[in-house]
Amino acid sequence: MDISVVIPLYNEEESLPELTEWIRRVMTGHDFSYEIILVDDGSKDTSWKVIEELKSTHEQISGIRFRRNYGKSAALNVGFNAAQGDVVITMDADLQDSPDEIPELYNRIMNSNADLVSGWKQKRYDPLTKTIPTKLFNSVTRNMSGIHNLHDFNCGLKAYRKDVVKSIEVYGEMHRYIPVLAKWAGFTNIQEQIVQHYPRKYGTTKFGPGRFVKGFLDLLSIFFVGKFGKRPMHFFGTIGVLSFVVGFFITCYLVFEKLRSIAEGTVYRNITDQPLFYLSLVAILIGTQLFLTGFIAELVSRNSSERNQYHIEKII
Ligand code: UDP
Ligand code: MG
Repeated sequence: MDISVVIPLYNEEESLPELTEWIRRVMTGHDFSYEIILVDDGSKDTSWKVIEELKSTHEQISGIRFRRNYGKSAALNVGFNAAQGDVVITMDADLQDSPDEIPELYNRIMNSNADLVSGWKQKRYDPLTKTIPTKLFNSVTRNMSGIHNLHDFNCGLKAYRKDVVKSIEVYGEMHRYIPVLAKWAGFTNIQEQIVQHYPRKYGTTKFGPGRFVKGFLDLLSIFFVGKFGKRPMHFFGTIGVLSFVVGFFITCYLVFEKLRSIAEGTVYRNITDQPLFYLSLVAILIGTQLFLTGFIAELVSRNSSERNQYHIEKII
């Protein structure tokens, strides 16, 4: 199979017939063998019914329905696991992304050896309250991740070589950082393609204004987890040991000075009367605490390999 189109959706009943028909037109026009995987992220409207109906006349469609809303990342992850095409394309369900971009995305993966081609909505049809924070988000992510050639990390329209989607795990709110996940997994040929973007045709955005707070917290956690998530002991343990060592040396110094004053017969204050003593005590205690925190985090992280815990209700 040439292409798997993975579409996460939440309450998108109006768009689905138009979207799947548009994809069919593009695919048959280019003679691609394809599948469309519609992942219903627990919609409360009739989206699932629509998917069942569409499936009866469009055999390339598959549907996966979550028992409740688990978020776009979980939906993408399920779609990635199911995808069989050589190239996997993701797009939003709301007709903001254009299926007309599929052939060029496919060619970029097949001919220029790209691992991931990310869409760039150079001309966006979203309100300013969204585009301005997005600019900031992109520039921070660009600098922190070292992927300097991307302008638009969070574009829903992307193409992947099959290996990429089978090697990464998209969880939590990580759908905003998939190029970063890919880079960490060793896929370094990440490219960008300017894509057409349309205003949302039906319904409203499924992410509230809280998206930016969430996005920012994710940004902090992604780099923290990315660097230390697998080995928390390296992070907490290092600071803990450093703090402990500082405290230990201060204590040694105080004891040494005390012994010297005894040997020389000079007057020297009690160790416990000196501020430095309390500093060393604090450093030793904090060091021990941090070390133990690292130890616990290490135990927890080893026992929680299952990050995605979603429940699938139906598959067609
Ligand atoms: N979406 C989803 N689960 C959610 C929220 C959104 O699967 O919990 C889907 C949504 O149906 C759409 C895509 O993710 O297909 C992008 O969402 P939306 O268009 O609301 O985001 P925006 O364009 O405002 O960034
Ligand atoms: Mg949208």
